[in-house]
Amino acid sequence: MSIEELNKEIIACRKCSRLVEYRNTRSVPEKYAIETYWNKPLTGYGDINGKLLVVGLAPAFNGGNRAGRIFTGDKSSDFLISSMYEAGFTNIPVSENINDGLKYNNMYITLALKCAPPDNIPLKCELENCNPYIEKEIDAMHKLKAILCLGKISFDSIIKYFRSRNIKTTGIKFINEKYYDIAGIRLYCSYHPSPRNVNTGLLKKEDFIALLKEIKNFIN
Ligand code: SF4
Repeated sequence: MSIEELNKEIIACRKCSRLVEYRNTRSVPEKYAIETYWNKPLTGYGDINGKLLVVGLAPAFNGGNRAGRIFTGDKSSDFLISSMYEAGFTNIPVSENINDGLKYNNMYITLALKCAPPDNIPLKCELENCNPYIEKEIDAMHKLKAILCLGKISFDSIIKYFRSRNIKTTGIKFINEKYYDIAGIRLYCSYHPSPRNVNTGLLKKEDFIALLKEIKNFIN
């Protein structure tokens, strides 16, 4: 299956009825009242022939779910894309809307869960429903050298991928800024760039940029 065919399948997916109902019934803030929300699953974005895969958690209702593109138009995107730009992974330092010209260099970015969940908390069954998509995305990345997981939930989805391929992951735990070499792929961990993690100082921008630069050196 090509990435284009996979993305069509993802956009048409309605497996998680709670998430479909949530996005179709939740009210939108006044400042976005005139906008037409995407309100569908979000595919990955970037270069599927790149050497790095970055995995986030799920779309924010008023971020990617509104804009129609992963990590676009919210605080997490501001932090992530400006950091990516500093490390040389994007052509511009912002991700505001689908017409902003953002391109990723040598990487693809996707989500463990493709639809926005209430309170940003997915159910286990929803993650299970969605995991086959990320598995297909990984399999489509023929030049993959590294995966960066943003947060424990995305890390777990990647561990599940390795286990489904009978690859041992014994003793591997999510630890911020740690990496593991598994079956020829270097798996990096980072806290998710959510406003809560950034505002509390759990995730510091200079540390995150340093990690991205380390990854860039590794894959090049
Ligand atoms: S979260 Fe994933 S499995 Fe569930 S409806 Fe969205 S795309 Fe489908």
